[in-house]
Amino acid sequence: MSASQIPYVPLAWWRRLSLPSFGLAALTAGVLWVAVAGLLGQGRLEAVLSAGRAELAAPLLVALVVATGICERIWPAERRPVLARGHVQDACFLALHAIVVIPLMTLLSFGAAALIGGHARWIELRPAEHWPGWLLLPLTIVAMDGANWLAHYADHRLGALWRFHALHHSQEELSVLTSFRAHPLMHTTGFLLATIPVVALMPARPMAPVLITVYVCIGTLQHANLRWTFGPAGRVLVSPAYHRLHHAPDIQNVNLGVVLTIWDVLAGRARFPARGDAVGRTGLNGRPVPVEQDGAAAPALLLLAEQLAEPFRAQS
Ligand SMILES: [Zn+2]
Ligand SMILES: [Zn+2]
Repeated sequence: MSASQIPYVPLAWWRRLSLPSFGLAALTAGVLWVAVAGLLGQGRLEAVLSAGRAELAAPLLVALVVATGICERIWPAERRPVLARGHVQDACFLALHAIVVIPLMTLLSFGAAALIGGHARWIELRPAEHWPGWLLLPLTIVAMDGANWLAHYADHRLGALWRFHALHHSQEELSVLTSFRAHPLMHTTGFLLATIPVVALMPARPMAPVLITVYVCIGTLQHANLRWTFGPAGRVLVSPAYHRLHHAPDIQNVNLGVVLTIWDVLAGRARFPARGDAVGRTGLNGRPVPVEQDGAAAPALLLLAEQLAEPFRAQS
């Protein structure tokens, strides 16, 4: 029988799906279940969700996004129209972030703390109970940033996690709004890992919400369409120019830092930009994720659905 005579047998439906992606979805659902059941039991679900909104959609963050957007118009790294396709698509992700991702992050944070605090109390560092707040709070934030670096490193090293992270890297027109271009399931590993230092160092003390907001603000600025290197501070804090190098199509395994560069320096993965450097291209070679810059791309909301569904498809 020649190749042309072999009958066409359609692939079983489940072989067209990426099972590890469903595994991550199931893990996320499990953490959410723990959070919702625990909070409903305590009658605190609404209070915790509104506290999460206050931290993650704080007026300070909204003001920062608006101010950065104005700076991008005045001093753009790459000049492009306000309604460039990349900006419009990332604005859709901002809406998804406000409606879905902020409550999801809040519940992930609570669920991870309940799971890790409930099953791994041995990680609590008892002497830390007596440390003053001025030492403990910055130390916890730095340790959380280290955990976020590790989660980001895993996103790049593990194929199952990369499928979700690739959407963030697919943006070819970086702007401050790209901070919100993330698959909702990309956050699970980060929250699980970042909860470990909180449980270890501050099991009984609340984290100051303003610190979380400031941390999120610095993490948001890094995608700005600006050439800013932050000068000497850019050796320690992730600047837009530093993070842009992480979004280059060919060198994504450098500059993985979320807020601090120290983890990249320690891992030998820091590449510091110089002030006059040319502005490099961003995006993914070969466009493995559907992108709005493709001439045949669907309208924004339909494309958003395609981009969110992409990790669940088996790769051919
Ligand atoms: Zn990355
Ligand atoms: Zn990024």
